[in-house]
Amino acid sequence: MSATILDGKALAEEIRKETAGRVAQFVAKHGVTPCLAAVLVGDNPASEVYVRNKQKACGQVGVKSQLHRPPATTTMDELLGLIGQLNADPAVHGILVQLPLPKGLDETKVLEAVHPAKDVDAFHPENVGRIVQGRPRFLPCTPYGIQQLLIRNNVPIAGSHAVVLGRSDIVGKPIAIMLMQRGEGGNATVTVCHTRTRNLPEVTRQADILIVAIGRAKCVTADMVKPGAVVIDVGINRTPEGLVGDVDFQAVREVAGQITPVPGGVGPLTIAMLLGNTLRAAELQVSG
Ligand code: NAP
Repeated sequence: MSATILDGKALAEEIRKETAGRVAQFVAKHGVTPCLAAVLVGDNPASEVYVRNKQKACGQVGVKSQLHRPPATTTMDELLGLIGQLNADPAVHGILVQLPLPKGLDETKVLEAVHPAKDVDAFHPENVGRIVQGRPRFLPCTPYGIQQLLIRNNVPIAGSHAVVLGRSDIVGKPIAIMLMQRGEGGNATVTVCHTRTRNLPEVTRQADILIVAIGRAKCVTADMVKPGAVVIDVGINRTPEGLVGDVDFQAVREVAGQITPVPGGVGPLTIAMLLGNTLRAAELQVSG
């Protein structure tokens, strides 16, 4: 039997509507409009599309957006100077530095320069530390979207075995931590796999929830999935046949119980969660 599709696009729309309502209430109460400042260094075409989509989404929920476009030749001092200005600007509530940065710019240093209260991507070490300690200020957008997708589709998380494939700072590590925390959307038993994992299919076949974020087109095959498992495909791979995930969707959907498509799965949720984080940043800043 074919798996049920977990529709990220529809859920993102629902979350955006909720956020738009909360933004309107916030503006009415405080007379302040939440504002997200995006910093796009250079002219990477994929990054331009991502930033444009994020700005468009801001407009749809009543969040203001700014775009700062230093050239690829910008120096670290200049970039840190710009971030310092945005940190100090009370009209800016969230700051997003679009990655990757051009060669020669130190990503770690740049992300650390963003004020933690405006760090809506939750990449600053202080925010990462808070997530690890189970008292988050913001949740990183892609893992936050995945967790909401599971919760709102009534996927049992507590007590389930979640296997996370990939250990990146932006997806694999944070989603693993979030699913193992105490509380709603947590209490899973979590295993994290990577390129050094032995007998990978044996491990992935134990998963009740399999989350794949490796950046390898169709790498997860049907024999790696337990019948009835929930499969979340984070991968975005541009191939001659178009955009595909890290999961061999057509084959795996015959084994899995529920599965996200690519596109239309995790991707749209990432932007929706960014808008919620920007509103949260504004709420925290207004309440001091
Ligand atoms: P990443 O930085 O590209 O790292 C890949 C991770 O996967 C590494 O931990 C690597 O292990 C592991 N890995 C690679 N090949 C593997 C294999 N054959 N078996 C087991 N593990 C393997 O990861 P990322 O930034 O999280 O990106 C992953 C994918 O998600 C990409 O396609 C990216 O475009 C996509 N993505 C999508 C969204 C969204 O909004 N939908 C957001 C972020 C990322 P090692 O650590 O051992 O090298």
